Amino acid sequence: MTTTAAELEQIASWLRNANYVTVLTGAGISTESGIPDFRGPDGVWTKNPAAEKTATLQYYMSDPAVRRLAWQNRVKSEMWTAEPNAAHRALVDLEHKGRLQTLVTQNIDGLHHAAGQSPEIVVEIHGNVRDAKCMTCDWHGPMAATLERVREGEDDPGCRLCGGILKSATISFGENLVAADLQRSQIAAGRADVFLAIGTSLAVFPAAGLPDIALRNNARLVILNAEETPFDPVADVVVRDQLGTVLPALVALV
Ligand SMILES: [Zn+2]
Repeated sequence: MTTTAAELEQIASWLRNANYVTVLTGAGISTESGIPDFRGPDGVWTKNPAAEKTATLQYYMSDPAVRRLAWQNRVKSEMWTAEPNAAHRALVDLEHKGRLQTLVTQNIDGLHHAAGQSPEIVVEIHGNVRDAKCMTCDWHGPMAATLERVREGEDDPGCRLCGGILKSATISFGENLVAADLQRSQIAAGRADVFLAIGTSLAVFPAAGLPDIALRNNARLVILNAEETPFDPVADVVVRDQLGTVLPALVALV
């Protein structure tokens, strides 16, 4: 299914006339940067369910073997060499055109920042991999320095202040979201005239709650995702095209 020129122009006109645009992005926007998604058919956890334990707080905190595996995965992660793609850059252009006020992302890869998006408009609802944090005291610092300790032979580096367990500053399964980030996302969804859901299956809370808030406040809902989402029937337009192609084409019309 290919989006027609008329559909793209329709979305562009909504964006041109909007006072407040909120974008939500998920794993689909980063797959063209070589970052695998986790739950899809070729996802990391689908192919290797044991790896999911490394992202589950209960296992991470209780099992040193899970932590050692997690640190090995972090050292080898594609995220350190991944580059933003044309879809990330299109959202930077949209911001420069004054038509992107808040960008909520489920991604932890930091590629929106790397693309040049203003950090103050980005809400990383699931945290990010750039930082490490202590699970006992409130220490946090750059992930790169902690990974250096792993490369030098510490297989489960502890907090140098309190000896506590260190973890990436991402939200694991079983871990609470940062309340302020969730609130910012919900407020941005409520203020939106146009809400774009990009590369997300809209199946997992809190992402799944945001389009509902936008629709209740009479926003236009546009979904750009390769696969079906539960919100397709209520969306104003659904776009299935490859994001690295269709997003630049859309933003060029704004
Ligand atoms: Zn500590």
